[in-house]
Amino acid sequence: MTPDVIVIGGGLHGCAAAMNLSARQCRVLVLERSAVARHASGASAGGVRTLNRDLAEVPLSLIAARMWDDIESLVDDDCDYHAHGQLRVAETEVELASLEARRQQMLALGYSHEVVIDQAELRRRAPTIGPQCVGALMVETDGAADPYRTTHAFRRKAERLGAQFIEGACVTALSRQGTVWQVTTPAARYEAPTIVNCAGAWSDEIAAMIGDRAPLQTRCSMMMVSERVAPFLGPVVSAVNRKLSFKQTDDGTVVIGGGHQGRPDRAHESYQLDGRRLGESATAVAAIFPTMRRVRIVRAWAGLEAQTPDHLPIIGPSPSAPGFFHAFGFSGHGFQPAPAVGRALADLVIDGGTQMPIAPFALDRFATSGKAA
Ligand SMILES: Cc1cc2nc3c(=O)[nH]c(=O)nc-3n(C[C@H](O)[C@H](O)[C@H](O)COP(=O)(O)OP(=O)(O)OC[C@H]3O[C@@H](n4cnc5c(N)ncnc54)[C@H](O)[C@@H]3O)c2cc1C
Repeated sequence: MTPDVIVIGGGLHGCAAAMNLSARQCRVLVLERSAVARHASGASAGGVRTLNRDLAEVPLSLIAARMWDDIESLVDDDCDYHAHGQLRVAETEVELASLEARRQQMLALGYSHEVVIDQAELRRRAPTIGPQCVGALMVETDGAADPYRTTHAFRRKAERLGAQFIEGACVTALSRQGTVWQVTTPAARYEAPTIVNCAGAWSDEIAAMIGDRAPLQTRCSMMMVSERVAPFLGPVVSAVNRKLSFKQTDDGTVVIGGGHQGRPDRAHESYQLDGRRLGESATAVAAIFPTMRRVRIVRAWAGLEAQTPDHLPIIGPSPSAPGFFHAFGFSGHGFQPAPAVGRALADLVIDGGTQMPIAPFALDRFATSGKAA
Protein backbone atom coordinates (compact mmCIF):
# COMPACT_ATOMS: atom_id res chain seq x y z
CA MET A 1 0.00 0.00 0.00
CA THR A 2 1.29 3.47 -0.81
CA PRO A 3 -0.29 5.59 1.92
CA ASP A 4 -1.85 9.03 1.51
CA VAL A 5 -1.05 9.74 5.16
CA ILE A 6 1.49 8.39 7.63
CA VAL A 7 0.49 8.82 11.28
CA ILE A 8 3.42 8.72 13.72
CA GLY A 9 2.34 7.24 17.06
CA GLY A 10 -0.24 4.61 17.94
CA GLY A 11 -1.74 6.16 21.06
CA LEU A 12 -5.39 7.17 21.21
CA HIS A 13 -4.79 10.29 19.13
CA GLY A 14 -2.90 8.42 16.40
CA CYS A 15 -5.62 5.76 16.33
CA ALA A 16 -8.44 8.35 16.28
CA ALA A 17 -6.72 10.23 13.46
CA ALA A 18 -6.23 6.99 11.52
CA MET A 19 -9.87 6.01 12.04
CA ASN A 20 -11.25 9.37 10.91
CA LEU A 21 -8.92 9.58 7.90
CA SER A 22 -9.73 6.00 6.85
CA ALA A 23 -13.45 6.71 7.20
CA ARG A 24 -12.94 9.43 4.59
CA GLN A 25 -11.23 7.04 2.15
CA CYS A 26 -7.62 7.98 2.90
CA ARG A 27 -5.04 5.20 2.81
CA VAL A 28 -3.38 5.43 6.21
CA LEU A 29 -0.22 3.88 7.64
CA VAL A 30 0.38 4.18 11.39
CA LEU A 31 3.99 3.77 12.56
CA GLU A 32 4.23 2.98 16.28
CA ARG A 33 7.64 2.66 17.90
CA SER A 34 6.49 0.28 20.60
CA ALA A 35 2.95 -1.11 20.79
CA VAL A 36 -0.45 0.52 20.39
CA ALA A 37 -1.59 2.07 23.73
CA ARG A 38 1.86 1.43 25.29
CA HIS A 39 2.20 4.94 26.74
CA ALA A 40 -0.20 7.65 27.99
CA SER A 41 -3.26 6.16 26.29
CA GLY A 42 -2.87 2.82 28.04
CA ALA A 43 -1.90 4.34 31.39
CA SER A 44 -4.72 6.89 31.42
CA ALA A 45 -7.48 7.16 34.01
CA GLY A 46 -9.93 7.31 31.12
CA GLY A 47 -11.90 10.19 32.58
CA VAL A 48 -14.43 11.58 30.09
CA ARG A 49 -14.64 15.05 31.54
CA THR A 50 -16.05 18.30 30.24
CA LEU A 51 -16.16 19.52 33.87
CA ASN A 52 -13.87 22.43 34.74
CA ARG A 53 -12.08 22.47 31.38
CA ASP A 54 -9.96 25.45 30.45
CA LEU A 55 -12.30 27.87 28.65
CA ALA A 56 -10.30 27.48 25.43
CA GLU A 57 -11.04 23.74 25.45
CA VAL A 58 -14.74 23.86 26.26
CA PRO A 59 -16.13 24.04 22.68
CA LEU A 60 -14.01 21.10 21.45
CA SER A 61 -14.68 19.13 24.62
CA LEU A 62 -18.46 19.56 24.24
CA ILE A 63 -18.29 18.28 20.65
CA ALA A 64 -16.30 15.29 21.89
CA ALA A 65 -18.89 14.72 24.64
CA ARG A 66 -21.62 14.27 22.03
CA MET A 67 -19.38 11.75 20.24
CA TRP A 68 -18.81 9.85 23.51
CA ASP A 69 -22.60 9.68 24.02
CA ASP A 70 -22.73 7.46 20.94
CA ILE A 71 -19.22 6.00 21.00
CA GLU A 72 -20.42 2.53 20.01
CA SER A 73 -21.73 3.75 16.66
CA LEU A 74 -18.38 5.45 16.05
CA VAL A 75 -16.02 2.53 16.81
CA ASP A 76 -18.36 -0.52 17.12
CA ASP A 77 -17.41 -0.91 20.81
CA ASP A 78 -18.89 0.75 23.89
CA CYS A 79 -15.32 1.27 25.24
CA ASP A 80 -16.77 0.44 28.68
CA TYR A 81 -17.94 4.05 28.77
CA HIS A 82 -20.33 4.91 31.59
CA ALA A 83 -21.80 8.39 31.97
CA HIS A 84 -22.09 8.25 35.77
CA GLY A 85 -21.20 11.95 36.08
CA GLN A 86 -18.19 13.83 37.41
CA LEU A 87 -18.09 15.85 40.65
CA ARG A 88 -15.57 18.51 41.72
CA VAL A 89 -15.94 18.59 45.49
CA ALA A 90 -15.65 21.64 47.78
CA GLU A 91 -14.49 21.07 51.36
CA THR A 92 -15.08 24.64 52.58
CA GLU A 93 -17.62 27.38 51.95
CA VAL A 94 -14.87 29.43 50.27
CA GLU A 95 -14.22 26.60 47.82
CA LEU A 96 -17.93 26.25 47.20
CA ALA A 97 -18.13 29.96 46.42
CA SER A 98 -15.33 29.52 43.86
CA LEU A 99 -17.35 26.76 42.19
CA GLU A 100 -20.41 29.01 42.10
CA ALA A 101 -18.26 31.73 40.50
CA ARG A 102 -17.11 29.22 37.85
CA ARG A 103 -20.75 28.26 37.21
CA GLN A 104 -21.68 31.93 36.74
CA GLN A 105 -18.72 32.48 34.42
CA MET A 106 -19.81 29.50 32.30
CA LEU A 107 -23.43 30.67 32.21
CA ALA A 108 -22.30 34.11 31.05
CA LEU A 109 -20.50 32.40 28.17
CA GLY A 110 -23.62 30.39 27.31
CA TYR A 111 -22.59 27.04 28.84
CA SER A 112 -25.05 25.38 31.21
CA HIS A 113 -23.61 21.86 31.50
CA GLU A 114 -21.83 22.56 34.83
CA VAL A 115 -24.14 22.87 37.85
CA VAL A 116 -23.53 23.41 41.56
CA ILE A 117 -25.02 20.88 43.97
CA ASP A 118 -25.42 21.34 47.72
CA GLN A 119 -24.27 19.06 50.52
CA ALA A 120 -27.49 17.03 50.65
CA GLU A 121 -27.38 16.33 46.91
CA LEU A 122 -23.66 15.51 47.11
CA ARG A 123 -24.33 12.95 49.85
CA ARG A 124 -27.13 11.44 47.78
CA ARG A 125 -24.72 10.92 44.89
CA ALA A 126 -21.68 9.92 47.01
CA PRO A 127 -23.08 8.64 50.35
CA THR A 128 -19.70 7.85 51.97
CA ILE A 129 -18.10 11.21 51.23
CA GLY A 130 -16.41 12.97 54.17
CA PRO A 131 -18.60 15.22 56.38
CA GLN A 132 -16.49 18.31 55.58
CA CYS A 133 -17.55 18.19 51.90
CA VAL A 134 -20.15 20.94 51.48
CA GLY A 135 -21.08 20.71 47.81
CA ALA A 136 -19.70 20.22 44.33
CA LEU A 137 -19.61 21.35 40.76
CA MET A 138 -21.12 18.60 38.63
CA VAL A 139 -21.55 17.53 35.03
CA GLU A 140 -24.10 14.77 35.18
CA THR A 141 -23.39 13.49 31.66
CA ASP A 142 -19.60 13.11 32.07
CA GLY A 143 -18.08 9.77 33.02
CA ALA A 144 -15.21 7.41 32.33
CA ALA A 145 -14.17 4.70 29.87
CA ASP A 146 -11.56 1.94 29.68
CA PRO A 147 -8.55 3.69 28.08
CA TYR A 148 -6.79 0.57 26.74
CA ARG A 149 -10.00 -0.82 25.29
CA THR A 150 -10.89 2.57 23.81
CA THR A 151 -7.54 2.97 22.07
CA HIS A 152 -7.76 -0.51 20.59
CA ALA A 153 -11.38 0.09 19.56
CA PHE A 154 -10.25 3.08 17.49
CA ARG A 155 -7.36 1.02 16.12
CA ARG A 156 -9.59 -1.90 15.12
CA LYS A 157 -12.14 0.39 13.48
CA ALA A 158 -9.33 2.12 11.55
CA GLU A 159 -8.06 -1.30 10.40
CA ARG A 160 -11.53 -2.38 9.30
CA LEU A 161 -11.66 0.81 7.24
CA GLY A 162 -8.34 -0.06 5.59
CA ALA A 163 -5.62 1.49 7.78
CA GLN A 164 -2.39 -0.42 8.30
CA PHE A 165 -0.53 -0.40 11.64
CA ILE A 166 3.14 -1.33 12.03
CA GLU A 167 4.32 -1.75 15.63
CA GLY A 168 7.99 -1.71 16.56
CA ALA A 169 8.58 0.98 13.92
CA CYS A 170 10.42 3.96 15.39
CA VAL A 171 10.58 7.02 13.16
CA THR A 172 14.18 8.26 13.25
CA ALA A 173 14.28 10.76 10.38
CA LEU A 174 12.01 12.77 8.10
CA SER A 175 12.84 14.51 4.85
CA ARG A 176 10.86 15.99 2.02
CA GLN A 177 11.55 15.26 -1.67
CA GLY A 178 9.31 17.44 -3.82
CA THR A 179 5.77 16.86 -2.58
CA VAL A 180 6.53 13.63 -0.76
CA TRP A 181 7.74 12.97 2.80
CA GLN A 182 10.27 10.22 3.33
CA VAL A 183 9.94 8.57 6.73
CA THR A 184 12.87 6.53 8.00
CA THR A 185 12.67 3.73 10.55
CA PRO A 186 15.49 1.29 11.38
CA ALA A 187 13.90 -1.44 9.24
CA ALA A 188 12.40 0.44 6.30
CA ARG A 189 11.68 3.73 4.61
CA TYR A 190 8.13 4.84 3.86
CA GLU A 191 6.72 7.66 1.72
CA ALA A 192 3.54 9.73 1.85
CA PRO A 193 2.53 13.27 0.89
CA THR A 194 1.14 13.95 4.38
CA ILE A 195 2.33 13.23 7.91
CA VAL A 196 0.42 13.50 11.21
CA ASN A 197 2.56 13.75 14.34
CA CYS A 198 0.83 12.01 17.29
CA ALA A 199 4.01 10.92 19.07
CA GLY A 200 2.87 11.96 22.55
CA ALA A 201 5.73 12.72 24.95
CA TRP A 202 8.20 12.45 22.05
CA SER A 203 6.32 14.74 19.65
CA ASP A 204 8.83 17.57 20.00
CA GLU A 205 11.53 15.23 18.68
CA ILE A 206 9.40 14.52 15.60
CA ALA A 207 8.59 18.24 15.23
CA ALA A 208 12.30 19.10 15.41
CA MET A 209 12.99 16.74 12.48
CA ILE A 210 11.06 19.12 10.21
CA GLY A 211 12.22 22.37 11.84
CA ASP A 212 9.31 23.02 14.22
CA ARG A 213 10.19 23.90 17.80
CA ALA A 214 7.62 22.80 20.38
CA PRO A 215 8.23 23.87 24.00
CA LEU A 216 7.35 20.64 25.79
CA GLN A 217 8.03 19.20 29.20
CA THR A 218 7.38 15.57 30.09
CA ARG A 219 4.63 14.78 32.58
CA CYS A 220 4.63 11.52 34.48
CA SER A 221 1.20 11.24 36.09
CA MET A 222 0.86 8.41 38.59
CA MET A 223 -2.14 6.15 39.23
CA MET A 224 -3.06 3.57 41.88
CA VAL A 225 -5.71 0.87 41.99
CA SER A 226 -7.17 -0.78 45.09
CA GLU A 227 -8.41 -4.24 45.88
CA ARG A 228 -12.09 -4.90 45.14
CA VAL A 229 -14.59 -3.41 47.56
CA ALA A 230 -18.38 -3.40 47.66
CA PRO A 231 -19.95 -0.83 45.32
CA PHE A 232 -20.15 2.61 46.98
CA LEU A 233 -19.61 5.21 44.26
CA GLY A 234 -20.92 5.96 40.76
CA PRO A 235 -19.48 9.31 39.65
CA VAL A 236 -15.83 10.26 39.14
CA VAL A 237 -14.79 12.52 42.05
CA SER A 238 -12.14 15.25 42.08
CA ALA A 239 -11.57 17.98 44.67
CA VAL A 240 -11.02 21.73 44.44
CA ASN A 241 -7.98 21.83 46.68
CA ARG A 242 -6.42 18.39 46.29
CA LYS A 243 -4.72 16.53 43.46
CA LEU A 244 -7.29 13.78 43.27
CA SER A 245 -9.34 11.89 40.73
CA PHE A 246 -11.23 8.97 42.14
CA LYS A 247 -13.60 6.39 40.69
CA GLN A 248 -14.89 2.89 41.30
CA THR A 249 -14.99 0.44 38.41
CA ASP A 250 -17.71 -2.12 37.73
CA ASP A 251 -15.57 -4.88 39.26
CA GLY A 252 -15.25 -2.96 42.56
CA THR A 253 -11.65 -1.75 42.32
CA VAL A 254 -11.03 1.93 43.03
CA VAL A 255 -8.84 3.82 40.56
CA ILE A 256 -7.00 6.80 42.00
CA GLY A 257 -5.18 9.51 40.08
CA GLY A 258 -5.21 13.26 40.01
CA GLY A 259 -1.87 14.35 38.66
CA HIS A 260 0.75 13.53 41.29
CA GLN A 261 3.96 13.21 39.32
CA GLY A 262 6.60 10.49 39.22
CA ARG A 263 10.05 10.86 37.65
CA PRO A 264 9.99 10.44 33.87
CA ASP A 265 12.84 8.84 31.92
CA ARG A 266 11.85 9.78 28.40
CA ALA A 267 14.98 8.42 26.73
CA HIS A 268 14.25 4.93 28.02
CA GLU A 269 10.43 5.17 27.70
CA SER A 270 10.30 4.58 31.43
CA TYR A 271 9.75 6.23 34.83
CA GLN A 272 10.19 5.88 38.56
CA LEU A 273 7.21 6.11 40.87
CA ASP A 274 7.46 8.62 43.73
CA GLY A 275 6.34 6.83 46.89
CA ARG A 276 6.03 10.01 48.93
CA ARG A 277 3.65 11.57 46.43
CA LEU A 278 1.66 8.35 46.13
CA GLY A 279 1.31 8.62 49.91
CA GLU A 280 -0.06 12.16 49.52
CA SER A 281 -2.55 10.77 47.04
CA ALA A 282 -3.64 8.09 49.50
CA THR A 283 -3.99 10.75 52.24
CA ALA A 284 -6.25 12.80 49.97
CA VAL A 285 -8.40 9.75 49.27
CA ALA A 286 -8.79 9.01 52.98
CA ALA A 287 -9.75 12.63 53.64
CA ILE A 288 -12.48 12.69 51.01
CA PHE A 289 -13.64 9.08 51.53
CA PRO A 290 -12.86 8.02 55.15
CA THR A 291 -14.09 4.46 54.44
CA MET A 292 -11.11 4.03 52.09
CA ARG A 293 -8.64 4.14 55.02
CA ARG A 294 -8.58 0.36 55.40
CA VAL A 295 -8.64 -0.52 51.71
CA ARG A 296 -5.40 -1.95 50.26
CA ILE A 297 -3.70 -0.53 47.19
CA VAL A 298 -2.63 -3.37 44.90
CA ARG A 299 -0.80 -1.64 42.06
CA ALA A 300 0.58 1.71 40.96
CA TRP A 301 1.82 2.91 37.57
CA ALA A 302 2.47 6.06 35.59
CA GLY A 303 2.33 7.31 32.02
CA LEU A 304 4.56 9.72 30.11
CA GLU A 305 2.90 12.60 28.34
CA ALA A 306 3.85 15.92 26.75
CA GLN A 307 2.96 19.10 28.63
CA THR A 308 2.85 22.55 27.05
CA PRO A 309 3.53 25.83 28.93
CA ASP A 310 -0.20 26.75 28.98
CA HIS A 311 -1.39 23.16 29.50
CA LEU A 312 -3.37 23.34 26.25
CA PRO A 313 -2.68 20.97 23.36
CA ILE A 314 -1.01 21.67 20.04
CA ILE A 315 -3.37 20.75 17.19
CA GLY A 316 -2.98 21.97 13.63
CA PRO A 317 -0.68 22.35 10.65
CA SER A 318 3.06 22.82 10.99
CA PRO A 319 3.94 26.52 10.73
CA SER A 320 7.00 25.68 8.67
CA ALA A 321 6.44 22.56 6.57
CA PRO A 322 3.70 21.69 4.05
CA GLY A 323 1.69 18.48 4.41
CA PHE A 324 2.55 18.12 8.09
CA PHE A 325 0.12 18.22 11.02
CA HIS A 326 0.57 18.01 14.79
CA ALA A 327 -1.67 16.73 17.61
CA PHE A 328 0.11 16.44 20.95
CA GLY A 329 0.78 18.18 24.27
CA PHE A 330 -2.52 17.18 25.86
CA SER A 331 -0.99 17.88 29.28
CA GLY A 332 -2.87 15.26 31.26
CA HIS A 333 -6.37 15.66 29.84
CA GLY A 334 -6.34 14.46 26.23
CA PHE A 335 -8.40 11.29 26.57
CA GLN A 336 -11.83 12.93 26.47
CA PRO A 337 -11.31 15.18 23.41
CA ALA A 338 -9.66 12.47 21.25
CA PRO A 339 -12.69 11.58 19.07
CA ALA A 340 -13.13 15.27 18.15
CA VAL A 341 -9.40 15.84 17.60
CA GLY A 342 -9.31 12.89 15.20
CA ARG A 343 -12.18 14.38 13.23
CA ALA A 344 -10.47 17.79 13.12
CA LEU A 345 -7.24 16.22 11.84
CA ALA A 346 -9.10 14.43 9.05
CA ASP A 347 -10.70 17.75 8.04
CA LEU A 348 -7.33 19.51 8.04
CA VAL A 349 -5.65 16.82 5.95
CA ILE A 350 -8.46 16.27 3.44
CA ASP A 351 -10.21 19.66 3.27
CA GLY A 352 -7.30 21.92 4.16
CA GLY A 353 -9.28 23.43 7.05
CA THR A 354 -11.89 22.58 9.67
CA GLN A 355 -15.00 23.98 11.33
CA MET A 356 -13.90 22.29 14.56
CA PRO A 357 -12.91 24.83 17.28
CA ILE A 358 -9.14 24.23 17.32
CA ALA A 359 -7.91 27.80 16.67
CA PRO A 360 -6.57 28.24 20.27
CA PHE A 361 -4.27 25.25 19.81
CA ALA A 362 -1.98 26.45 17.00
CA LEU A 363 1.73 25.76 17.60
CA ASP A 364 2.73 29.31 16.71
CA ARG A 365 0.99 30.72 19.83
CA PHE A 366 4.28 30.12 21.64
CA ALA A 367 6.84 32.85 21.10
CA THR A 368 9.67 30.32 20.86
CA SER A 369 7.82 27.95 18.55
CA GLY A 370 7.60 27.76 14.79
CA LYS A 371 10.56 27.26 12.56
CA ALA A 372 13.71 26.36 14.43
CA ALA A 373 16.74 28.53 13.71
C1 LIG B 1 -1.80 8.49 34.27
C2 LIG B 1 -2.61 9.31 33.31
C3 LIG B 1 -3.94 9.58 33.57
C4 LIG B 1 -4.71 10.33 32.66
N1 LIG B 1 -6.04 10.54 32.90
C5 LIG B 1 -6.80 11.23 32.01
C6 LIG B 1 -8.20 11.40 32.20
O1 LIG B 1 -8.76 10.93 33.19
N2 LIG B 1 -8.90 12.10 31.27
C7 LIG B 1 -8.31 12.63 30.17
O2 LIG B 1 -8.99 13.29 29.35
N3 LIG B 1 -6.99 12.45 29.93
C8 LIG B 1 -6.23 11.75 30.81
N4 LIG B 1 -4.90 11.56 30.60
C9 LIG B 1 -4.33 12.10 29.38
C10 LIG B 1 -4.57 11.20 28.18
O3 LIG B 1 -4.48 9.86 28.52
C11 LIG B 1 -3.56 11.57 27.10
O4 LIG B 1 -3.72 12.95 26.79
C12 LIG B 1 -3.72 10.79 25.81
O5 LIG B 1 -3.80 9.40 26.05
C13 LIG B 1 -2.54 11.09 24.90
O6 LIG B 1 -2.63 10.26 23.77
P1 LIG B 1 -1.52 10.34 22.64
O7 LIG B 1 -1.96 9.44 21.56
O8 LIG B 1 -1.26 11.78 22.33
O9 LIG B 1 -0.17 9.84 23.36
P2 LIG B 1 0.38 8.36 23.67
O10 LIG B 1 -0.70 7.46 24.09
O11 LIG B 1 1.55 8.51 24.58
O12 LIG B 1 0.87 7.85 22.25
C14 LIG B 1 2.01 8.36 21.61
C15 LIG B 1 2.66 7.19 20.90
O13 LIG B 1 3.69 7.68 20.03
C16 LIG B 1 4.69 6.69 19.98
N5 LIG B 1 5.94 7.28 19.49
C17 LIG B 1 6.71 8.19 20.12
N6 LIG B 1 7.79 8.49 19.37
C18 LIG B 1 7.69 7.75 18.25
C19 LIG B 1 8.51 7.61 17.09
N7 LIG B 1 9.66 8.29 16.95
N8 LIG B 1 8.12 6.75 16.10
C20 LIG B 1 6.96 6.03 16.23
N9 LIG B 1 6.15 6.14 17.32
C21 LIG B 1 6.51 6.99 18.31
C22 LIG B 1 4.78 6.20 21.42
O14 LIG B 1 5.38 4.90 21.50
C23 LIG B 1 3.32 6.21 21.86
O15 LIG B 1 2.70 4.95 21.75
C24 LIG B 1 -4.11 10.82 31.48
C25 LIG B 1 -2.76 10.55 31.21
C26 LIG B 1 -2.02 9.78 32.10
C27 LIG B 1 -0.59 9.48 31.77
